[in-house]
Amino acid sequence: MKPIEIADGVFFVHSEMVNWVLLTDGDAVTVIDTGYPGQRGDVEDSIRAIGRNPQGIEAVLITHAHVDHIGSAQYLADTYRAPVLVHPDEAAHARRECHEVATPWDVLSNIWRPGVLPWAIKLIRLGGTAKYGIDSPTPMPVPGALTCPGAPVPVLAPGHTSGHTVYHLPDRGVVISGDALITGHLTSPVSGPQLLPQWFDHDRGMAAESLRIIGELDADILLPGHGPIHHGSVAEAAATARERVGASR
Ligand SMILES: [Zn+2]
Ligand SMILES: [Zn+2]
Repeated sequence: MKPIEIADGVFFVHSEMVNWVLLTDGDAVTVIDTGYPGQRGDVEDSIRAIGRNPQGIEAVLITHAHVDHIGSAQYLADTYRAPVLVHPDEAAHARRECHEVATPWDVLSNIWRPGVLPWAIKLIRLGGTAKYGIDSPTPMPVPGALTCPGAPVPVLAPGHTSGHTVYHLPDRGVVISGDALITGHLTSPVSGPQLLPQWFDHDRGMAAESLRIIGELDADILLPGHGPIHHGSVAEAAATARERVGASR
């Protein structure tokens, strides 16, 4: 999983199961999402692959507190003394004071669908069934750009989880969309801009509404939490995903 420099100082790391993003400013690094627990070495390797040292991690940001996005967050925080910044609306979920996750029952009742069983087996191998949270997430100051490398602007896009946050890089024309807008998933029969299958979302109606929020961001590169990079108007990508939600009702 070789990082791709998609814009100046913006690196996308795509893996089969989940993606993450690195933002750099000189030697300093912001990590946005951190893979599954079993991918911590991959996250560190991705930082070395772009010529930086994990010691240079200044901040760890998460889009939301599902295990495939926070799997290395606590480790990176402890090892490199970097804060884990989360949107205030996602902080309780990150501390596991509430649960907004597909349950084992959700998985089992969908296991007959194409792709779900292979996905579940890979998830188990990557430590995805661990009871995993973040001990002391730092609520990020909102609204406005953060001061960490890349100066990402957090934008609340709730639904997948209550505090799901996308990150806009207005100067680079990039949106990092986490699971609020994806382009593919092992459990999805279609490719291109879409929401995850419904049973992954905490509040499907709100997730569909949040596509309007994402569609208002001025950008032409979408870096999703799952699936490949999408080049082209993010507004159009969000509209495509909205149409697909309508068609699946
Ligand atoms: Zn998720
Ligand atoms: Zn995810």
